[in-house]
Amino acid sequence: MDSKEFRNQAHTVVDWMADYLESVEQYPVRSQVKPGDILQQITRQPPEKGEPFSELFEDFKRIILPGMTHWQHPRFFAYFSANSSPPSILAEILTTTLAAQCMLWETSPAANELETRMLEWLRQLIDLPEAFTGSIQDSASSATLCALIAARERATQGQAARTGLHGHPPLTIYTSAEAHSSVEKGARIAGFGADQVRKVTVTGTGAMDPQALTQALNTDREAGLLPACVVASLGATGLGSIDPLREIGAITAEQKVFLHVDAAWAGSALILPEQRVMLGGIEFADSFVFNPHKWLFTNFDCSAFYLKNPDELVNALAIMPAYLESAAGEQMPEYRDWGVPLGRRFRALKLWFVLRSYGAERLQTMIRNHIDWAAALADNVAAHPDFELVSGPTLALIAFQLNPRGLTGPQLDIVNEELLRRINDDGRTYLTKTRAHGRTVIRLAVGQTYTEQRHVHEAWSTVTAIAAELLAPGELARVLDGY
Ligand code: PLP
Repeated sequence: MDSKEFRNQAHTVVDWMADYLESVEQYPVRSQVKPGDILQQITRQPPEKGEPFSELFEDFKRIILPGMTHWQHPRFFAYFSANSSPPSILAEILTTTLAAQCMLWETSPAANELETRMLEWLRQLIDLPEAFTGSIQDSASSATLCALIAARERATQGQAARTGLHGHPPLTIYTSAEAHSSVEKGARIAGFGADQVRKVTVTGTGAMDPQALTQALNTDREAGLLPACVVASLGATGLGSIDPLREIGAITAEQKVFLHVDAAWAGSALILPEQRVMLGGIEFADSFVFNPHKWLFTNFDCSAFYLKNPDELVNALAIMPAYLESAAGEQMPEYRDWGVPLGRRFRALKLWFVLRSYGAERLQTMIRNHIDWAAALADNVAAHPDFELVSGPTLALIAFQLNPRGLTGPQLDIVNEELLRRINDDGRTYLTKTRAHGRTVIRLAVGQTYTEQRHVHEAWSTVTAIAAELLAPGELARVLDGY
């Protein structure tokens, strides 16, 4: 592809991108293909000869697009959003055009220095104390892994990275039963082992019970184990539960245990002063992660990871082969030592574009809207005779259950699984589920960039219409009999 053709095709692609974003509402939100549908349309052998771009692009539209779930659809309310925005997309185009490998300051000074400044901007925007220094990770899972490595090093006086974990008492980790699976995954990778993760009991709201935490720490100490890290969640994935940071922080400070805070989703809401109450006690934390790629209009991937003492992590990860030596390493942070991969994408550019394009005020308005619309929806759910609002609104997340009278718990699970299947097969909206108090519940998280309040209403109308069909005489019995 020569420069002239690249220019022409790029114009075509950009036109398609703008059309797509304007019309994304017309697609089914969740892809409607079946497993294997895409695979069977891709030739088994790689092509011997090059093909014209126009054909590739046609195949993208014909084969790939139907196999995509549209995360940028305004009626996407599943999981947590991975939202995006036009300035972020444009930055990503520039990033991929520069195609720089930003592993060292020297290999891309602007990427390194912009990352430093953007993490300072984000820190101010969410009112994190100045004591925190940040870097960009690909995901919250990677950030939590790094936090666990830093905690491991602190607990072993910096020895584990050199000599391994033998010779030390077993190291333990504490997190709530509602915490994200990345904590356990990090524990497996960092050498703690999944069995050393204590899933601390939660209270009625799904938040970690500080008394249960103290008890778990004491029990382990008495048994000769070495508590190394507590991971608190601000906005746990299932129901958005918010752990009591201040109480947990007082315990970790007293017991001298590393405290990591996972605010992967909820962290973006901290740009709203009225939501910062959940940050009370952050001064006790040693590390903190949140994902601008979830709710801050910045394309996946972009996870902001903060540490109070980055040296604990850097000392564990830094290795200096001759081929990586560079003069600037003394003066500038070399972010390759702040995470697992050596190679780094230029992720700070999209943050810069997003933060400058919208400014704090507009970002606040967009997130505040999401929270307000979720609250209004929660009222509708609570008022509906056949539904029960099981949880929330917690920020912009609610969880509910279709709960007609006269059904047993197991029957309700079947009915709600079936309701969710029908909703997602229908395609007008996309929701996901979790378990709450032993029951299957449907989650709805508002957070998509292009969502307006009417889309939330439309999603709820879809849910209630499909629920009415399910509850029609004969239909409910048929569904329950089928199981
Ligand atoms: N922590 C929480 C609370 C989450 O909700 C998620 C994902 O939804 C993660 C961590 C993992 O995020 P990532 O995909 O960036 O690893």
